[in-house]
Amino acid sequence: MAKALIDRFGLQHLSTGDMLRAAVAAGTELGKLAQGFMSQGALVPDDVMVKLLSERVQQADCRLADGTPRFLLDGFPRTLPQAAALDREGLSPDLVVFLDVPDEIIVRRLVGRRTCPQCGNPHHVEFAPPVQDGLCDRCGTRLVHRPDDTEGAIRRRLDAFHAQTGPLVERYAHVLAHIDGNQPPETVQKSVSTTLRSHGVVG
Ligand code: AMP
Repeated sequence: MAKALIDRFGLQHLSTGDMLRAAVAAGTELGKLAQGFMSQGALVPDDVMVKLLSERVQQADCRLADGTPRFLLDGFPRTLPQAAALDREGLSPDLVVFLDVPDEIIVRRLVGRRTCPQCGNPHHVEFAPPVQDGLCDRCGTRLVHRPDDTEGAIRRRLDAFHAQTGPLVERYAHVLAHIDGNQPPETVQKSVSTTLRSHGVVG
């Protein structure tokens, strides 16, 4: 969903999951540390994540010409301490989009997900199979099955989500847009776009 929105609205996409996967692929210290947590379906510790994001948002591509921060956060904050860190840095979100999907549907979506490591284009073995078996429709790169998109890891990620990310729904009640994510992708995309526009966060 984030990928579709950034293309449409020209937003900078900051996915902490993508940043961590790049660090794992590059074999950096951060990648080595994060890999164990990620493969278990657990959250990476807050201090590591806060440092990663704080450094990333300093970069010029996260600001408008007048210096105003502008980006779409995907997968951050996931805990109350991460939300507090955003506040401390003067980066409290203008809008928080909660895509509500029942757990069993999430398991079905993620078990079959196949992602392009090159361009990020998502596919699904059942709902959006690639035209050429195993290859990205957009750039032809071989698709990957994320190691944490197995049923066991997905269920542990859902447990982490409910226990650690769930409290953010109340924390952000004043800026929360609750969207039914259990609809076809185009319908969800339309709802999110309308919400972003009606809250004035995109033109
Ligand atoms: P995602 O690509 O957003 O599904 O994230 C994949 C994995 O990266 C998660 O299951 C966590 O292990 C880790 N991760 C990503 N973002 C965060 C975050 N904000 N806090 C802690 N762990 C994170």
